[in-house]
Amino acid sequence: MNKVAVFPGSFDPITRGHESVILRALPLFDSIVVAIGENSEKSGYFPLEKRMEWLRRIFSSEPKVKVASYSGLTIDYCQQTGAKYILRGLRTAADFDFERGIGIMNRAMMPGLETIFLLSAPEYSALSSSIVREIHRNGGDVRQFVPEGINP
Ligand code: ADP
Repeated sequence: MNKVAVFPGSFDPITRGHESVILRALPLFDSIVVAIGENSEKSGYFPLEKRMEWLRRIFSSEPKVKVASYSGLTIDYCQQTGAKYILRGLRTAADFDFERGIGIMNRAMMPGLETIFLLSAPEYSALSSSIVREIHRNGGDVRQFVPEGINP
């Protein structure tokens, strides 16, 4: 069976926390589509093309990882790509509360879909794209928070 997972997110920008979740999930799936959800109402801090380029660069030597963008419902995108799994990371109880609602609603709309959660590695549990954006916006050095080889 071809086990495809979609890892949806804004990845604005990708952090070491996201990278860690993806690398740890690799043994569980045949392929992982890291999919940037496009929001028609807000364009993001970093341009979509830049975010995609970083993802492609980081996972260029990992054939199981595909990079894509999508708009609309994540479940519709899962159906299009043949993915029966959504991958998400959990840092805190707040993440859990948020994810729980989305996970239940997604499964109501697409029976058979399973959301697989990986607990954040402790060293990344305080790391978020929004904090990285805040540091970047104020001229700070974000390199220790983003994967090697990218310098937003
Ligand atoms: P969204 O805009 O959907 O919240 P993000 O790009 O912020 O997307 O995050 C995508 C997924 O990665 C979410 O499941 C989020 O909980 C998870 N995630 C974000 N940061 C971390 C981290 N430091 N450690 C583990 N998981 C994380």
